[in-house]
Amino acid sequence: MPIVENHNKVDINKRKMINGGEADVMQLYPMKHTFAWDAYIAANANHWLPTEISMQRDIEQWKNPTFLTPDERSAFETVLGFFSTADSLAANNIVMATYKHITSPEARMYLLRQSYEEAIHTHAYQYIVESLGLDQGKIFNMYREVSAIYNKDNMMLSLNEGIFDPNFKTGTLENDQKLLENICMFSLVLEGIFFYSSFAVILSFQRQNKMTASAEQIQYIMRDESNHFNFGVKVIETIKEEQPELWTPEFQQRIIDMVKKGVELEYTFAVTVFPKGIFGINAEGFKQYVEHIADRRLRSVGLPEQYGVENPFPWMSEAIDLDKEKNFFETRVTEYKVGGQLEW
Ligand code: FE
Repeated sequence: MPIVENHNKVDINKRKMINGGEADVMQLYPMKHTFAWDAYIAANANHWLPTEISMQRDIEQWKNPTFLTPDERSAFETVLGFFSTADSLAANNIVMATYKHITSPEARMYLLRQSYEEAIHTHAYQYIVESLGLDQGKIFNMYREVSAIYNKDNMMLSLNEGIFDPNFKTGTLENDQKLLENICMFSLVLEGIFFYSSFAVILSFQRQNKMTASAEQIQYIMRDESNHFNFGVKVIETIKEEQPELWTPEFQQRIIDMVKKGVELEYTFAVTVFPKGIFGINAEGFKQYVEHIADRRLRSVGLPEQYGVENPFPWMSEAIDLDKEKNFFETRVTEYKVGGQLEW
């Protein structure tokens, strides 16, 4: 479409997260959703690459036939099987489904950065698989073969059908709700629940001083994902403010049901990952952990808790808790920034 000559400046009041195309999606200024710009700047400061982390120790541990039990190996591979396609799913959702319907240029800046981060995450799994000499066909095809992973991915993809349609347009109550539901699904369920429980599995390896280089990769990913989640929540909150008519009681119930279904699938996944428990975590304890996380996700967008359970693994919340996480990464991030300035 050719650019139409127009001497009127952009009206910031017309800028909206969705349905704001009138305010020109190519002009970054005037900025309205400044949280998105802040998130973009913070994400750049967190830049990292998988190949910066030496895998040597993990390679030795993995090749040692007695260091890990068969159950531990199976859990490690199954979690990697989930991870290896989940970030592709997230990236595809941004690039092919949501991006074009988000009409805030500053939010688009973050989405561009986020989609690159999803690529870095897929790179990290590739790097782990390659370094350890794992069966690539087995790990990367697990989402088709292991039903507990397939069912999670299928739930994500089922919400995309309408939005992937090239004729899909926002601007009606039904379609706007469909898009908002998609954003809730990817932020609350994929990045908020489906990822976090797998993070916990890898962190439990780390607590045993096992596969710590892989765990370090996962911690970087965890930091990125928690920022993706926080950004997603702010996008949801912004859409709620700008178009309160979308957030009907029926719609809220849809989101609650979606989160509850996600919890069930996650529990089934946990049972698949460690049928006999791992490092003192059994599936029942894990179920409670997933429920606890799900309540936090619901609360973050103003929806009522559904489970009201305590966190059964306080050590996980210490490792995953966002504020502490920032301190945890401080040294490394500073190092990276200095290195980056010198090298480039
Ligand atoms: Fe993400």
